[in-house]
Amino acid sequence: LSEPQGKHITVAGLGVSGVPAAKVLHGLGARVTVVNDGDDERARAQAAELEQLGVTVRLGDGDTLPEGTDLIVTAPGWKPDKPLFAAAERAGVPVWGDVELAWRLRGRGGRKAAPWLAVTGTNGKTTTVQMLASILKAAGLRTAAVGNIGVSLLDAVLGEDEYDVLAVELSSYQLHWAPSLRAHSAAVLNLAPDHLDWHGSMEAYARDKGRIYEGNRVACVYNVADKATEDLVREADVEEGCRAIGFTLGTPGPSQLGVVDGILVDRAFVENRHKNAQELAEVSDVDPPAPHNIANALAAAALARAFGVPATAVRDGLRAFTPDAHRIAHVADVDGVAYVDDSKATNTHAAEASLAAYESIVWIAGGLAKGATFDELAAGAAKRLRGAVLIGRDRALIREALARHAPEVPVVDLDRTDTGAMLQAVQEAQRLARPGDTVLLAPACASMDMFANYNRRGEAFAQAVRELGA
Ligand code: ADP
Repeated sequence: LSEPQGKHITVAGLGVSGVPAAKVLHGLGARVTVVNDGDDERARAQAAELEQLGVTVRLGDGDTLPEGTDLIVTAPGWKPDKPLFAAAERAGVPVWGDVELAWRLRGRGGRKAAPWLAVTGTNGKTTTVQMLASILKAAGLRTAAVGNIGVSLLDAVLGEDEYDVLAVELSSYQLHWAPSLRAHSAAVLNLAPDHLDWHGSMEAYARDKGRIYEGNRVACVYNVADKATEDLVREADVEEGCRAIGFTLGTPGPSQLGVVDGILVDRAFVENRHKNAQELAEVSDVDPPAPHNIANALAAAALARAFGVPATAVRDGLRAFTPDAHRIAHVADVDGVAYVDDSKATNTHAAEASLAAYESIVWIAGGLAKGATFDELAAGAAKRLRGAVLIGRDRALIREALARHAPEVPVVDLDRTDTGAMLQAVQEAQRLARPGDTVLLAPACASMDMFANYNRRGEAFAQAVRELGA
């Protein structure tokens, strides 16, 4: 099926991956039918656009396999237990995700098929991929950060620009649907329960994440502090000579990158045979220099070094990197208190990382819990909390966890889910804070009960902080 021309390809799902996939496949001469569960206004507008090109679209029926389908290309979010896929299996029809499609189409039309350096993990994917792209660029390589951010994978593979190497962010969903992907090297940053409703179990989630290592040629990068990532390397079937490379916030062992006296060092890819470690950069070159972010930088450095990038480019690339908005962004200091926006901490594992980065915190949290429990988070943060201000629909879950594990921490429970609640939350946090403290928005929850998305939530926080300072 490497040649779409003349094939009947069913694209499952409109939206950010389906619409471009349908256009590309149509452009390559396939007969394309799009099936979509929803039939709302947005779907109709997208359908009209595709129909004009000659693509058939079936709205409101995402589960009937169109007659004569040779291949399904699915949106990554579609659950594997959907009846459409059972029908495909009965009919012997293969199913690819958007990543598999991009992987199969790379190198077409005389283009250079750039190798992929791939990153997955529960948290830190976007940051790590952006750091990696910055390092590769500092080494003079033509590259892009692709995946959920920046350039889309299909554009990177089929577009006008040529690349020497791609820094690819992959979600567990995308990996599930990418059976033949073979990265040059790949990293799993960490593994914590997330999206279990989709995968069915932690084992299935880990298995899908672990797919990223299959067939790696040069390096499988794992997190020394997260044994589950190392187990995935051990289980993977890789090319001969491919190495397991660990990253650690401590002193690195052989075949590891780590930190010694505030310096990021590499003991895996040493340029001078007479030395046993290569200095890469200083901790202060990483923005922000919080522990979890140093880990992201080490993972990015490991992948870049596996690709042969010199140590100086790691330092230059890390210095040139600036984090995306709402990821531990320092908003302002007001009366000796720092206000930090980590609105992107939409799950407990992410919030745990940012809470670990500060000593004395007034924590603003709450929103949609997505089935999470907060006991571990509350117990781990208890000693660092000056106080907490809770907002959003599921705030009672956090309040109860704090009562169990941090009973002496003062908690302000704002019984509001309107957008204006953020200003009140910040004012309450100001009242609780003492000079030297950090007021940290790290909600550990999704934002959609109060805001359109985590960006809006972070902007509301920053706006509220500006009003305090005014
Ligand atoms: P992703 O793309 O995986 O969602 P991001 O790089 O956008 O990850 O970071 C999302 C949030 O996760 C950050 O705001 C931060 O709170 C947290 N985070 C980032 N890196 C890590 C890490 N290595 N371990 C734990 N949490 C992290």
